[in-house]
Amino acid sequence: AKFSGRNKFSFFDVSMAQHALNKTEIVKHLRNSMGSDQFSIHYQPIVNLETGMIDKAESLLRWTHPELGYISPDEFIPIAEDIGLICELGDWVFRQSASQVKSWQEKFKENFQLSINISPKQFQNESCDLQEWTDFLSQKALSNKAVSLEITEGVMMNEGPMTEQRLGMLKLAGIEISLDDFGTGYSSLAYLKKLNVDYLKIDRTFIQNIHINHDDQAMCEAIVVMAHKLNIKVIAEGVENEAQLNFLKSVGCDYAQGYWFSKPVTSDDFELLLSENEAQ
Ligand code: C2E
Ligand code: CA
Ligand code: CA
Ligand code: CA
Repeated sequence: AKFSGRNKFSFFDVSMAQHALNKTEIVKHLRNSMGSDQFSIHYQPIVNLETGMIDKAESLLRWTHPELGYISPDEFIPIAEDIGLICELGDWVFRQSASQVKSWQEKFKENFQLSINISPKQFQNESCDLQEWTDFLSQKALSNKAVSLEITEGVMMNEGPMTEQRLGMLKLAGIEISLDDFGTGYSSLAYLKKLNVDYLKIDRTFIQNIHINHDDQAMCEAIVVMAHKLNIKVIAEGVENEAQLNFLKSVGCDYAQGYWFSKPVTSDDFELLLSENEAQ
């Protein structure tokens, strides 16, 4: 499906919209916008540092409202969680991503993977049906490794039988799990031990000064060594310059993601990135 781009609303002054943003207004508009074409997904490449190939991408939800303009997911996702819309939004992101990955696997590489952000509420809320996801993948004749799920420590913080059972079910089905924003929470190591994750994403606050700060270098290197001993692959987030990239390569980090390679882009633009990458 084609998504309506942001440009459609470019006549609208975004800075004006930002003044007006308040929670009540977002709540109202979010409810009314569900199921509309105001939502789209942007894709950001995740590059294999050994081969330089785009092996994966992260799906990032976008919402552009005709009056409010662009609203960041950091702003509307917590609201969607509060007012009970996160299952519907999350399902949409999953289905859209699964359909997209199917097409890119056929056109480019058969083991291409899309990484999807999951809110803790999707694990805790009984009305979110995660079992349907694995059914959807098999309907599309996709391997369960075609998608991976990015979870944060928040998933474990209010851990109940529900979370444990669902995580177990997804793991058993072969879906890969990434621990997102690693290092920013209170007990990352405890969760790392408890969760059987496949990837660990080093938060961009640790990457920011990695080319100049020795403490950050020491931490990143230690994270990579530890992860590898636990059989976990490491993805560095927020890589913005070549010096950061070179350091990450030198310590054996597996993947990197960030503006240095590309911002999150529309599916059409992502497809161009993939064809250029394949042609090299
Ligand atoms: P996140 O999962 O940590 O996603 C990474 C964020 O960092 C994205 O912001 C991305 O655009 C941004 N980013 C990527 N590379 C760079 C870089 O080099 N420098 C800088 N400064 N930033 C970079 P975005 O797209 O605004 O998303 C914000 C957050 O919203 C995400 O953080 C995630 O927690 C949440 N989110 C986005 N899409 C979804 C979704 O479909 N479901 C759920 N539950 N949450 C989502
Ligand atoms: Ca993420
Ligand atoms: Ca992150
Ligand atoms: Ca985040």
